[in-house]
Amino acid sequence: MSVKENLKQLRSAIPAGVELVAVSKFHPVEALTEAYDEGQRVFGESRANELVSKAKVMPEDIKWHFIGHLQTNKVRQILPYVSLIHSVDSERLLRLIDSESLRLGRRTDVLIQLHVAKEETKFGFTPDEMLEVITPESVAELKGVNIVGVMGMASNVDDEVRIREDFREIRKAFDMLKSAVFPGKEEFHIISMGMSHDWEIAVNEGGNMVRVGTSIFGEREY
Ligand SMILES: *Cc1c(COP(=O)(O)O)cnc(C)c1O
Repeated sequence: MSVKENLKQLRSAIPAGVELVAVSKFHPVEALTEAYDEGQRVFGESRANELVSKAKVMPEDIKWHFIGHLQTNKVRQILPYVSLIHSVDSERLLRLIDSESLRLGRRTDVLIQLHVAKEETKFGFTPDEMLEVITPESVAELKGVNIVGVMGMASNVDDEVRIREDFREIRKAFDMLKSAVFPGKEEFHIISMGMSHDWEIAVNEGGNMVRVGTSIFGEREY
């Protein structure tokens, strides 16, 4: 099926109130343009150079989300183009995005990436680490970033029970952070979880932003 057909089908399946991030990493601008022509405006990329080069040639009303592991030396490069960074996985990165945003005279929306999957390779804070680092005091010092929610991935397994447990843990971490640091703050509202194979479970467990690549654009060629 075509990108347009895939997108239409996905949109009709995703409930209202859930934002679709079309994960376009490794796909050519032509494929993104097909999605754009079908009305898609939010695209997710995982490499800094790729995001910047696509942003430079694609229409300006696109919202670019950075979803991959962000090296500190790439922050300055992507900030002018990015509308949301999903993948803040260390205190150092958070502070750097803060200071670089201030330098540019802007505020950058970010999500705190959680590590709940059992794979060692995944980046992110455990819920406990998150609660140690993100406190009312530390947030008060951040003048260049808005923490607007959390992001996470489930374990890369077929076991639906396990996947559901991981998403529950992400949801629970969101709720804890909300009550500890952002009570009554409407801007803290995003739970980014779910990809092509597990977004339905994620939405079922309270996710309101899904990051879907393969089901829209097909398999990636690395
Ligand atoms: C690549 C990627 C996705 C999309 O994965 P698909 O299985 O292609 O839908 C979602 N989230 C992150 C963080 C990714 O790196």
